[in-house]
Amino acid sequence: MKKLVLASNNAKKMKELNALLAPLGFEVIPQGQLGIPEAEEPHCTFVENALAKARHAAQHSGLPALADDSGLCVKALGGAPGVISARYAGEPKSDARNNEKLLADLAGKTDRRAHFVSCLVLCRSADDPQPIIAEGEWHGEIVDQYRGDGGFGYDPLFFVPEFGQTAAELDAETKNRISHRGRAMQKLIERLPEL
Ligand code: IMP
Repeated sequence: MKKLVLASNNAKKMKELNALLAPLGFEVIPQGQLGIPEAEEPHCTFVENALAKARHAAQHSGLPALADDSGLCVKALGGAPGVISARYAGEPKSDARNNEKLLADLAGKTDRRAHFVSCLVLCRSADDPQPIIAEGEWHGEIVDQYRGDGGFGYDPLFFVPEFGQTAAELDAETKNRISHRGRAMQKLIERLPEL
């Protein structure tokens, strides 16, 4: 098994990534298990934050490292909440308060288009001059009523027209297949032979 450090301690992400990567011969190790502290994410783009996290984990572990940065971009809000999606309504982070703020900010706005972004960066080493970068998008609309109790984050407000359901109403298997993260993962997997 080739070892890959994951620059996150999110248990859900670990499970999702392990399921995809184990059959390809990769053992995913969360950075916390190696005592690696979380990296700063000071940048205004997903790709820069993901790169900062992956480089930090590669530097501390001496192993190849994978990081992801994701969020929601709403057209009528100029791309907000963007990289601050997790903390849109401030600290401590709360999905419920983020969703309330999103609805308040969109009150009276008719353009409801939005998309999720997932950016994955894999650094072979801390000074890898050409990290593997894979990005996925998932387009939909923000609705006014909460629907569904699956998923997390903005899922109950993110309506997916092709399915006539919000992301929180989709079953987990469908969401993983069509979501921003699923799409980015598929692109990354296609490029793993380059490792
Ligand atoms: P992070 O990449 O784990 O930092 O996630 C950033 C934030 O974006 C999350 O806390 C959610 O608010 C939002 N987000 C990212 N992906 C999803 C998703 O699949 N559904 C709902 N919200 C998401």
